[in-house]
Amino acid sequence: MKYVDEYRNAEAVRHYAKAIAQLITCPWTIMEICGGQTHTIVKYGLDDLLPPEITLIHGPGCPVCVTPAEIIDQAIALATLPNVILCSFGDMLRVPGSPEQGDLLSVKAMGGDVRILYSPLDALKIAQANPDKEVVFFAVGFETTAPATAMTIYQAAQQNLQNFSLLVSHVRVPPAMEAILSSPDCQVQGFLAAGHVCTVMGYREYEAIAARYHIPIIVTGFEPVDILQGLYHCIRQLEAGESKVENHYARSVRQQGNETAQSLLQKVFEIVPQTWRGIGEIPASGLKLKPEFAAFDALHKGLLPKAIAPTPVVPNECISGLILQGIRKPQTCPAFGTRCTPNHPLGAPMVSSEGACAAYYRYRQMPTAAVS
Ligand code: SF4
Repeated sequence: MKYVDEYRNAEAVRHYAKAIAQLITCPWTIMEICGGQTHTIVKYGLDDLLPPEITLIHGPGCPVCVTPAEIIDQAIALATLPNVILCSFGDMLRVPGSPEQGDLLSVKAMGGDVRILYSPLDALKIAQANPDKEVVFFAVGFETTAPATAMTIYQAAQQNLQNFSLLVSHVRVPPAMEAILSSPDCQVQGFLAAGHVCTVMGYREYEAIAARYHIPIIVTGFEPVDILQGLYHCIRQLEAGESKVENHYARSVRQQGNETAQSLLQKVFEIVPQTWRGIGEIPASGLKLKPEFAAFDALHKGLLPKAIAPTPVVPNECISGLILQGIRKPQTCPAFGTRCTPNHPLGAPMVSSEGACAAYYRYRQMPTAAVS
């Protein structure tokens, strides 16, 4: 805990909050990309420490939230097949698909073999132990989790596993940032970039975005001091008219990132357009298995009898698309905390441990946490 305590130090938080207040001369709107950062801001009430001129808006960095409903439907359809063991991360089980499809937890309750794993590599062991079943791992996440998926496929190929496949819904952060910046509704003037994504990918791609859109991007972490420090440097740049990438998560991030992980991603995946739930298709924002690994693609294997057609699946009153683009805040959703709660979610942002609606429900209904 000593390592983390340093970044939850109340004096350091107050120092940065005071420095920001002394620096600011006009209103600024800053988006934190990652749902983990959103949870820290809401949990510790960091937004309440800032001058009223600063507006924080929450970005689309919750991979569970942006997974399109048609892919959830495909996972549900796979899980209902008698010869399939469907594995995924725990958060995915309660994300609703189409209204008529329900969720993976319902399939499990009805007797479907749906298993929660912490690593896709564990799915290989399940496949080895169940040679008469098809084991499908539902792979979701940003560039942080994609290398583990790539490693899993690499090992499955080496082991020549015939009964293992993936349903892939990996997404990439930089194209989503560009989509937000290109929107006519864009209010974002500065970004806090997610340190764990940059640990894998580095931040060269962000340098091109900062230059193209004249916007400061601060790579930072997930603890209160990280967030306040990131905001301070973002506002310092905005006040000075600068638009650079600064790395303030140097304890983990290098400019070039983890080149071994990147090389693995390039071997296994190709970049494709991807639909983001509530947002729509974003060019070059998804990862798909390369043709040489198609034998491990659950959809390519023809496990499903027919394609699951895309449907407009988000209930009308769920405004998750606006939440994920930072255009609205969770409490402004008419269903928040009444018809939509973690026990009865209408949309993915109320389900996921990184969802903005879940953060506001969990922490703004109760006293916020204290920094030490
Ligand atoms: S509170 Fe519920 S219904 Fe409203 S945007 Fe969030 S997930 Fe959707």
